[in-house]
Amino acid sequence: MAKTKPRTIACPTCGKPVEWGPQSPFRPFCSERCKKIDLGAWAAEEYRVPEQPGGGQLPEGEQ
Ligand SMILES: [Zn+2]
Repeated sequence: MAKTKPRTIACPTCGKPVEWGPQSPFRPFCSERCKKIDLGAWAAEEYRVPEQPGGGQLPEGEQ
């Protein structure tokens, strides 16, 4: 059995199926517009940084 089905995911903003590959530069979003909408909602909610696994990446040159 050959699996040639392209992997698709649902756009987090509008729910449209998005092919997971280089042909979808805005994945996991279907378009730049959806990406911006999601980023805007996320930023408005609160700038929260989740725990970084194996963390230790300190931004240099800040403060
Ligand atoms: Zn979308």
